[in-house]
Order: sequence, then structure tokens, then C-alpha cells
Amino acid sequence: MKRNFFIIGGGVAGLSVAYALLRQGQAVTVADHRQPGQSSWAGAGILCPLLPWDYEEAVNRLAFEGMRAWPDWAAALAREGIDAEYWACGMEVVAEGLDSDAALAWCRQHDFPAGQLSENRLWLPDVAQMRNPRLVTALSTAVISLGGAILPERKITDLHMKDGRAVAALAGQSEYVADVFVWAGGAWAGQVLGGMAPVPNTRPVRGQMLLYAPGSHTLKHIVYRHDGLYLVPRRDGHLLAGSTVEDVGFDAGTTPEILHQLHKAACDLLPELCGHRPVRSWAGLRPGSPNNIPVIDRHPAYDNVWVNTGHFRYGVTMAPAGSRLLVEQMLGLSPHIDPAPYSWQAALGRSWQ
Ligand SMILES: Cc1cc2nc3c(=O)[nH]c(=O)nc-3n(C[C@H](O)[C@H](O)[C@H](O)COP(=O)(O)OP(=O)(O)OC[C@H]3O[C@@H](n4cnc5c(N)ncnc54)[C@H](O)[C@@H]3O)c2cc1C
Repeated sequence: MKRNFFIIGGGVAGLSVAYALLRQGQAVTVADHRQPGQSSWAGAGILCPLLPWDYEEAVNRLAFEGMRAWPDWAAALAREGIDAEYWACGMEVVAEGLDSDAALAWCRQHDFPAGQLSENRLWLPDVAQMRNPRLVTALSTAVISLGGAILPERKITDLHMKDGRAVAALAGQSEYVADVFVWAGGAWAGQVLGGMAPVPNTRPVRGQMLLYAPGSHTLKHIVYRHDGLYLVPRRDGHLLAGSTVEDVGFDAGTTPEILHQLHKAACDLLPELCGHRPVRSWAGLRPGSPNNIPVIDRHPAYDNVWVNTGHFRYGVTMAPAGSRLLVEQMLGLSPHIDPAPYSWQAALGRSWQ
């Protein structure tokens, strides 16, 4: 049965659900209070948890499903018009301070390909990347080309409820009637939307990033240092260096000291960058959640309101699998992975350490 879905939030989480619903023949409208994709734009686009053995099974299950789905997902998006620049470039882990033997044993146990380049360097060949600004354009383009509607600069302030169900989303004087609503507000999902309970424990976590111009390096794969620094070369020769993990509320600005430290750390990791200045810097807000486990579930108070948020550091990696899981639940299909860890109830039991 074809139903009208109204998605609040046009980041990767909202747009990927819209795309999945449209491919199932549903009618979809996406509203965003700014331009869609404006915050998902900021990420590095590494398609893997950093580092998987540091995370709980619930993170890796969704992330690995996403990683397996990504090549076909990227190809399907490209057929709708925009290439998100998926690139299976591999990742080198500079492992000083890391127990390499334990990490390699974890990889063997989890069937996750890994090798040792030298005493302190691991190689993870299955780690891929894509380019965030291209991904959000690819998703928006696909949504439109499959018949969906995207409403920019539409801040939803309330949901009109009747008999325990949402009947319309409200933005200023405008009212959007739909059968089903999806709350994909990213870093804002922990705020109250009208009378609805906020998604438990979700909060913004800032990340700052530097960009170097083509010609500044010869790197052809991702490099991740165990203290959290990564370098991501793009196919056109640009290079990203990131990122910070900062608890500063909704402040999405950059700070000169941190950018300076990032630049110094990047030069330390890749000496050929010394003498080159970053050509651009920015910051983004991640939808933070305890243990990096998202909420992909029905809202506990309303039958026809669903939630897809809290993917924190891995919203892009998880996008194909997370959107599929939500759509399976909304359409009454068998879920391809166990939804229990991503339930609202499970999120209530987790807290920030
Ligand atoms: C620096 C940085 C590096 C990252 N690197 C990676 C990486 O390498 N790999 C990876 O997988 N992930 C990475 N991420 C994480 C990833 O980008 C996020 O998990 C993902 O973008 C979150 O998407 P989202 O749609 O949930 O949230 P958002 O992109 O924040 O989208 C939410 C949207 O909801 C809208 N909204 C909020 N409230 C309302 C309202 N009331 N009405 C209408 N619209 C509303 C907002 O305007 C926003 O556009 C990184 C993030 C950052 C910041």
C-alpha cells in the first residue's frame, strides 16, 4: 500500500530513508530547516568504524552491513545522476601504543581482512571512502528523480496529534499532512520537537577538519593514527586531515588553536605536507550518542512516528543498512538484522561515561 511519508531532517539519515522508501514505491517529502545535507556535508567519508575492535558489536553489525552494501548503493545512486566517489582505497593504521596482535586476532575472529605492514603499522584493505558533499547531492538528486519532494528552509516546530497519532507537521503557518513521520534531526534530535519526547541522550559533538590542495602530497590511501588523527586523500588530489571530538554544544565554528594543532599533527604524520598550508577548514556537528549506537525505532508515544538518528561518528558508513532497517520496520517487512540494540528502550539504558 502506498503511503505518504514526511521526513524531518535532510541529512544523510533522512535522505537515505527517503531514497529507500521511494525505491519501495512510497511517497516521500523531506523537510530541513536549512539546506538539506548542510551538516552531513562536513564529514570525512571514511566507510568503517575507527577502529572496529574499539567498538561494541551493535556498532560494527550496522557498520559492516553498511560497508557491504556501499558499492551497490553508490552505483545505484550514480545511475540516478551523481557519483559519490566511492573509492576502496584501504586504510593504514599507525599503531604505536596499540596491541597489534590483539587487533589482528580480533580481525581474524570477525572475518575482517587485515595485514601487518611493519611492527607498528596495520593494513585494512576493505576500508573505503566516499566524498560527503557529493553524497548529499547524490541522495538529494535521487530523491527528486524518483518523485520525492525536498523542502529546504522549513523548520518543523511541532507535530499536530490526534488520537495518539501524528497527522501533520507544522512549520510556521504551513501544515504538512502525512500518514507516517520520520524524525531524523541529527545533532538536534535530542531537542524537544513539539510535544514529543526527545531522543534519549543524543547531543551534538563537534569535529574540525582541514583541507589541503592537490599537489601537497602523494598519498593514495587513508592513514589513521591510533591517537585519533586521520588523513584522507580524495581522488582529485585534495587531502583531508581530521578530526576533533568536542563537546561544545551547538557551536559549529572552527578555532584557530585547534586548526593549528591539527595542521602540526598532519605534518608530523605526513612530512610531505610541511610547507603546504591548508586551503580550507570547517567544523561539523555529529549526532552524538552513548557508545555510538543509533536509535532506529518507532517513537514510544506515537504509532506513526519513527526515529533514525544518533549514528554519531559513522552516519555515512551506516546509512545504507540503517535506512534499510528502518524502512523494513516501517513497512512491516522482516528486518535483515536484529533491531533490538537500536531500539528506543535500549537507548534509555545507555548513558554517556
Ligand atoms: C568532522 C566530521 C567527520 C565525520 N567523519 C565521518 C566518517 O569518516 N565516516 C562516517 O561514516 N561518518 C562520519 N561523520 C559522521 C556523519 O557525518 C554523521 O553521522 C551524519 O552526517 C549524520 O547525519 P544525520 O542526517 O543524522 O544528521 P545531520 O547531517 O545533522 O542532519 C540532520 C538534519 O536535520 C535538520 N533538522 C534538525 N532539526 C530540524 C527541524 N526541527 N526541522 C527541520 N529540519 C531539522 C538539520 O538542519 C540537519 O540538516 C563525521 C562527522 C563530522 C562532523
